[in-house]
Amino acid sequence: MAPRAFDAIVVGTGAGGSTAMKILCEAGLRVCALNSGQRIDPTKDYRGHRQVYDLKFRGYGNPLRLQGKAHQEPYSVEESEYSEASDLFEHDVAYSNAPGTDWYWKRCKATGGKANFWGRSSARFGDIDFKAADLDGVGENWPVDYAEMAPWFSKAERYMGVASTVQNRPSNPDGEYLPPIPWRCIDYIIQKGAEKIGVPYLPDRCAQLTVTHNGHPACHYCGNCSRGCDVGSFFSPTWFTIPDAEATKHLTLVTNALVRSVLVDQDGMATGVAYVDRATRREVEVYARVVVLAASCVETAHIMLNSTSRHWPTGIANSSGQLGRNLCEHLYGSPGYGYLPQLLGQPATPDNIADSTVAWMPRWQNVTNPREEKFIRGYSVYMGGGCGEFPGYYSQLEGFGSTFKRDITRYYPTPIGSLIQAPTLPSPTNYVDIDPETKDIFGIPQLRFHFQWGQNELLMWEHSKRVMVDLFKAMGGELWGMDDEPNRPGTSLHETGVCRFGHDPKRYVTNKWAQAHDVPNLYICDASIFPNCTDKTTTMPIVAFTMRTCDRMLENFKQGVHKRA
Ligand SMILES: Cc1cc2nc3c(=O)[nH]c(=O)nc-3n(C[C@H](O)[C@H](O)[C@H](O)COP(=O)(O)OP(=O)(O)OC[C@H]3O[C@@H](n4cnc5c(N)ncnc54)[C@H](O)[C@@H]3O)c2cc1C
Ligand code: SF4
Repeated sequence: MAPRAFDAIVVGTGAGGSTAMKILCEAGLRVCALNSGQRIDPTKDYRGHRQVYDLKFRGYGNPLRLQGKAHQEPYSVEESEYSEASDLFEHDVAYSNAPGTDWYWKRCKATGGKANFWGRSSARFGDIDFKAADLDGVGENWPVDYAEMAPWFSKAERYMGVASTVQNRPSNPDGEYLPPIPWRCIDYIIQKGAEKIGVPYLPDRCAQLTVTHNGHPACHYCGNCSRGCDVGSFFSPTWFTIPDAEATKHLTLVTNALVRSVLVDQDGMATGVAYVDRATRREVEVYARVVVLAASCVETAHIMLNSTSRHWPTGIANSSGQLGRNLCEHLYGSPGYGYLPQLLGQPATPDNIADSTVAWMPRWQNVTNPREEKFIRGYSVYMGGGCGEFPGYYSQLEGFGSTFKRDITRYYPTPIGSLIQAPTLPSPTNYVDIDPETKDIFGIPQLRFHFQWGQNELLMWEHSKRVMVDLFKAMGGELWGMDDEPNRPGTSLHETGVCRFGHDPKRYVTNKWAQAHDVPNLYICDASIFPNCTDKTTTMPIVAFTMRTCDRMLENFKQGVHKRA
């Protein structure tokens, strides 16, 4: 029997892939979605409402759980004892770091990907981002502008449900918002201090439902979002896009299918993909008229670099030589943490929303004059605190025994911390390639990272530390300290750039529609197309750009550029 061909294959069911599945299925296309790991079941796999004392290892997990795994490193926050019984995170497929690189690649292989556990910060990009090169003369403009993208951001926000306020800031275009998340006591104190030093402190744009939205219930503020929401009160593929795609009956979802390469015909066009069935370790081929890669930025480049053929000796659609290049990332780290003495002795309040990006300091540097600071572009800062379930500030206090425990209780409502989000600039020395020496346990050549922080983001890092000293003083706080150095690259999970889009086929991997210049029936629906990071996060834009790409793809089907299977 001849193998059945689909209209489209979508690789990955995260924010990008699941949005593509939904749109293409709703348009009547027959779609095969391939997901690297198992299907997530919120009733079993999200166990956020357990108390730490109910868990054998107090939430930290069995220290021996990764024994025998190819990739030994645990992932912070989202991977914990709360979801330990399930095999949600990638520890079978290892990766390499070139000498001097310390990239930390966290991967959720379950359906829905990382957006099951994401932080939900969802600001729009603006022309200050798309046309940054025009403003400061460095790098390249994006192939789109705000006027073109605004309707797609609106569409994404209306679907996802994003809580915020209208703020009229040039660095942060306003969108279509649900009511904002109510502020905590600390937010009002921080805002007053920030005002004194000329720094904005405003509600973040947060994809968390403050009211019932499109049939999804309003948040009940249990504060366990990073362990997965058991009622679907924030945007995640598990609760939104995947059920929508399945409701059409046009979707075939294959789990535990680790895609290794895109297959091509005699003309070098995509005909389908080859994947390894994790259970049997056998290679399987599946065919379609169009292939959509949405395996999450660097993994999309990994699949493309491994897709070599007579036509594409260095990886599919790589005639520009840009595949894997221009890896960008957010520099993360805490430029200041301490406490607010004015809150000592206050009773604990039920503001356990420490997991949410309730408020932030949107970029305020180089906004009117692009060269005002020693660095170009700009960064944003998130502030955390409030009465979280676990007193994370324990490591910032000294002592032991009963005095230490008393101190932890005494400080409970008072500690606050900060997190800088500083974009890197593209650099020829930051990229991914295939490690020529090493294959993973499935026989697939491993991805290798080459990455160092650049001077521009390190200047932002130093700047943010000085701002925190001033802020703590201005709000009457006491600064306990600041991180000695930034977090490891990869920590933010906002990497971009390795399949960047642009007009010139000689210099960019895809066109402005995220359609490979060389292979018109190959599309990309993740952050790998973004030429650089901004001071904002990537997920809502991934959804918006995916909606736009799929609209174009459907038009191409209509016009006969792509034929139905
Ligand atoms: C704790 C945390 C906090 C975060 N906070 C924020 C935030 O506040 N704002 C924000 O915008 N973003 C945030 N992020 C990042 C956000 O989760 C990602 O930007 C988003 O999930 C990316 O979507 P994606 O579809 O590209 O990738 P993913 O969500 O990683 O999905 C990729 C999918 O591809 C599948 N896959 C991978 N490789 C293969 C393969 N070879 N074959 C088949 N399938 C494959 C995976 O199984 C997965 O389903 C956060 C993430 C985490 C974990
Ligand atoms: S705080 Fe709200 S969005 Fe987060 S897990 Fe609880 S109910 Fe879900």
